[in-house]
Parts: sequence; C-alpha cells; structure tokens
Amino acid sequence: MKLDDDIYVYEWTNPLENNCNSFFIGGSVGALIDPGLTVFLPDLLKGMKEDGIDSEEIRYVINTHSHPDHFEASGAFNGNTNIQIGMHSDGIAFLNDIGGHMYGMFGLDTPEVNIGMTLEEGPVTLGDETFEILHTPGHSPGSISLYWPSRKALFPGDVIFDQNIGRTDFPGGSGDLLKKSILALSRLDVDYLLPGHMGMVVGNEQVKRNFQFVIERIFPYI
Ligand SMILES: [Zn+2]
Repeated sequence: MKLDDDIYVYEWTNPLENNCNSFFIGGSVGALIDPGLTVFLPDLLKGMKEDGIDSEEIRYVINTHSHPDHFEASGAFNGNTNIQIGMHSDGIAFLNDIGGHMYGMFGLDTPEVNIGMTLEEGPVTLGDETFEILHTPGHSPGSISLYWPSRKALFPGDVIFDQNIGRTDFPGGSGDLLKKSILALSRLDVDYLLPGHMGMVVGNEQVKRNFQFVIERIFPYI
C-alpha cells in the first residue's frame, strides 16, 4: 500500500502467522526494509507489483535486525549483483553466534546471506537521499532504526510499536538498553512511525503521544 510519495507499507495482519511488516522506499532509493520470512516473500513481491513496483527497482535490502520473521527472506536476494543487503555489524556477529541458533527454535534453517553492506550508526546515502542509522539495541543486538529526516519517517524495527515495545526476553535482549534506545528515538522529529509489527502511527502529535505513552506506562514494567 502506498502511504505517501515513495513510501510503501506492507502491513502483516494475519495473527496466525508470524511475519513482520515490510516497507519499500521508492524513487531513487529502492530500499526494501525487512523482507520477512522466505515463505511469504512471493506475497510481498506480488503486493509490491500491485503497487506498480517491479522487483528490479530493489537496490537495497535493509535489515533492522536478524530475527527470522524480519531477515530470513534476505537470502533470496543473494545472487542479485544489483542489490546490496545491509545489517549492523553487531547484528552480523549475533547472527553468526546465538542469533543463528534462534532459527532452529522456529523450525527454520539459518539462512546463508551475503551481507555486503555493514550499517553503522550515522548518516547513510541511499540513491539521492540521506538517511540516519541509529543503533538501537535492546530487542536484539545490532538492532537499527532507519530515519529519513527529509520525510520525517522512522523505521524502528521491533524497538517500539503502537502503544507497545519489542520483547526483551529473546537471546541478547535487554530492558535497560531498550529504554535507552526508545529515549533516543523519542528525540527525533517524526511524522511517520513505521514499526516492524502491528499498526503504523501517523502524525507528529500522534507519534509524540505514542512515545509518551510507552515511556510513562510501559517503562515501569521493563
Ligand atoms: Zn524481532
């Protein structure tokens, strides 16, 4: 679904299956954010096609973290030399260690993915646009949030949701780190909060209220 110019949202609404929301940034950027589980990749590509996006427009696959429901389908892009697959260095290290074993917990094989683009904290240029990578651990080591300042759009993965937060009970999770990460994100100017699960939060006031809700009501429990 087209949310705004060059911002496409593929919201996962089936509660019986575990998969994440995926996003595509069009125009000169061509970034697919969190391709999800491999089994659902054909559905995602079909949804993009229905929005007029050819899979050849994908130039980057940006992974917010290495959990199976976000990252597994990245392996499908391995052989494509036009596509760079990105993840934070801590996420890569985690995937090569305990994070890789998590796939077995879900009955999956750890995917072999050629991650050619290491995402570190700081600015990154994709196409003609400048984005900000924020290292936001707590849900998973090497979790990143992608911020697009000119469009005030934030893709936090599983750090913060609509009135909720990412789980901290998976390997490498930490409540203290998650709080720090959410506080850092709350200082950004955001019109579109586009998380890895559940609904989108749209509107500057709505996003501010959501951070306030999470900080006041949910922080005491983590
Ligand atoms: Zn996750």
